[in-house]
Amino acid sequence: MTNVKRLLILGGTGDAAELAAKAAVIEQIEVITSLAGRTRNPQAPTGMVRIGGFGGEAGLLEYLHEAKIDLLIDATHPFAAQISWNASSAAVSCNIPHLMFIRPAWLQVPGDEWIEVDSVEIAASVLPEFAKRVFLTIGRQQLAPFARLDNIWFLMRLIDPPAADALVPPGMILCDRGPFALDNERQLLIEHQIDTLVSKNSGGDATYAKIIAAREMGIKVVMVKRPPTPVGEKVSDVESAMQWLINQM
Ligand code: NAP
Repeated sequence: MTNVKRLLILGGTGDAAELAAKAAVIEQIEVITSLAGRTRNPQAPTGMVRIGGFGGEAGLLEYLHEAKIDLLIDATHPFAAQISWNASSAAVSCNIPHLMFIRPAWLQVPGDEWIEVDSVEIAASVLPEFAKRVFLTIGRQQLAPFARLDNIWFLMRLIDPPAADALVPPGMILCDRGPFALDNERQLLIEHQIDTLVSKNSGGDATYAKIIAAREMGIKVVMVKRPPTPVGEKVSDVESAMQWLINQM
């Protein structure tokens, strides 16, 4: 095949998987998705897949050269900041067209009772003022700041259980993977008598039902704001990412 371009998608999100499936349909594009390797049974995206960290910005730069990558799309989760900054710098260093796919953040609407905070650590520090039973939905990597809150009970929803040596807050672990239906979220909030939800502002539809359920029941939401993103080209939907790809051919 001539004029085939190799596209590296930095993945780990549903958006990245959707993009890989659509990009793979373009004949002149060969798709490789990179996953960090955090999830035990990741849903396999269309096309080639590589798994594991690159070894920082230098390692990513080396990989881009060795794998002869022509185009780079960063479709990682909005809270996966390190890899996004590494990708941005590496793409500039080797002059590869680079796009960031960032789904829009959720916005507070009438009826929402959000307390917006800058980090997971600050989310943990504000809880003792008002929370007794918390639905914690921030993933399994940052549970430690909540582990010292002995007077709060946590329902922790995670894709995989925490590591055996992880610091885990008092409460119950529920292993499940989105998308989550509104009825499911209502049921969890009622069954566990939740008074506060802690969430990252991930955006997207797959995990938004918990925000609606909290609104309906007058439950407070401690919403962790997104970290800053590098300067560069950005889109917020798959169609625009596909258009960017077509423009690069
Ligand atoms: P991070 O803090 O930005 O990344 C930490 C390190 O993990 C990076 O420096 C890199 O290691 C490696 N890494 C991250 N994403 C990678 C990828 N797609 N391919 C290869 N290596 C990757 O990210 P994180 O918060 O740990 O998230 C890890 C992955 O989980 C991301 O790909 C993200 O899309 C997904 N995810 C994260 C969240 C979240 O809330 N953070 C939620 C859902 C999904 P090296 O420096 O060695 O290259």
